[in-house]
Amino acid sequence: MYDSYRHKGLRANLVKTLRDKGIQNENVLLAIGAIPRHLFLDRAFEEWAYKDVAFPIGNEQTISQPYTVAYQSQLLEVKPKDKILEIGTGSGYQACVLSLLKAKVYSIERQEDLFLKTSRFLPEIGFGAIRTLYGDGYEGYPKFAPFDKILITASCQFFPKKLLQQLKIGGIMVVPKGNVKEQTMYRITKRSETEFSQEAFDKFAFVPFLKGVVSAEKMPI
Ligand code: SAH
Repeated sequence: MYDSYRHKGLRANLVKTLRDKGIQNENVLLAIGAIPRHLFLDRAFEEWAYKDVAFPIGNEQTISQPYTVAYQSQLLEVKPKDKILEIGTGSGYQACVLSLLKAKVYSIERQEDLFLKTSRFLPEIGFGAIRTLYGDGYEGYPKFAPFDKILITASCQFFPKKLLQQLKIGGIMVVPKGNVKEQTMYRITKRSETEFSQEAFDKFAFVPFLKGVVSAEKMPI
């Protein structure tokens, strides 16, 4: 794996930036300090890997900004062995952070070619324990439900009902909800089969949570 002292130095600076911006969870910071984010971008764009910005990864999708990844991971209050469902695998970076927090990670992606690419890539960098799934995140993943935590990494206009159903009692869902341009980060806690409490946090801008799947052969060339 190509990870130089220069990359490690840039990563340490990124961790410092996140700390300065208010991320306090040491395990989250350690995870970000350990994951070679430059490997998630095309080699030509490596310079961007350790700046605190989102970046295009193809298929009109992005690898989330490190601050956003840290923020969501922190709100999720991950404990070792937590069973977590992530919606929107994308590059797989967020899933790696959760995996280093010792969670059992399931991650769903609706775009088949992105799913295939990331599913091949994660074992190559030592994250073969992450279970990647191809499907529509609105459906969740009943086969592996219920989950301790659910993390949505695309913007929602409403709290997806089937995902709330697939949370354990006492479980937490972190989800950006709002309009196309701007969303508020929410943390929902499932109190009973029918009762949920919600807390609202800062504003973010995510790519949309879309219905259905896109199969690889239907992608425009
Ligand atoms: N977590 C990713 C960033 C996600 S960007 C990372 O760490 O890189 C949001 C992703 O959600 C995109 O890849 C998009 O294709 C996916 N997505 C959008 N709607 C979806 C749905 N209904 N089901 C599964 N994935 C979805």
